[in-house]
Amino acid sequence: MSLSDHFSHEDWVDFVRGVAAPDERRDIEGHLRTGCRDCAVQREIWHGVAEIASADQQFDPPASAVRRALAFYSVQKPVGRMARAFDAVKMLFDSALVPMRLIPNAELHVFPNCGHWAMIERKAEFENVVLAFLTRS
Ligand SMILES: [Zn+2]
Repeated sequence: MSLSDHFSHEDWVDFVRGVAAPDERRDIEGHLRTGCRDCAVQREIWHGVAEIASADQQFDPPASAVRRALAFYSVQKPVGRMARAFDAVKMLFDSALVPMRLIPNAELHVFPNCGHWAMIERKAEFENVVLAFLTRS
């Protein structure tokens, strides 16, 4: 059985963020009370993701890093295909490299030809990578 057979990733995200519809929240809470181990793991995984995402929003990068990034992009002025590549690099810098430095033992996995909803676009691969990381001793 896949870990997400009972509720979707979107359901879990809404649940851990506290924005699930009342009937959906009631369904998940009732299901968790049955002792479903897979869903208890899902709740912990998504709770951890929500905590990391919340901490990332509060991160204030060092002024020197911001100055360097601004200087780099002001000089490069990428156009066309290079602009897209630079956007990708900027996204990685903003969303991955900083947390990589802050979170001990963090790992980065890039799915080629995939948007930022890897957990949906590449569900099976995403779950394999996450479970391999979480179950590693
Ligand atoms: Zn379940």
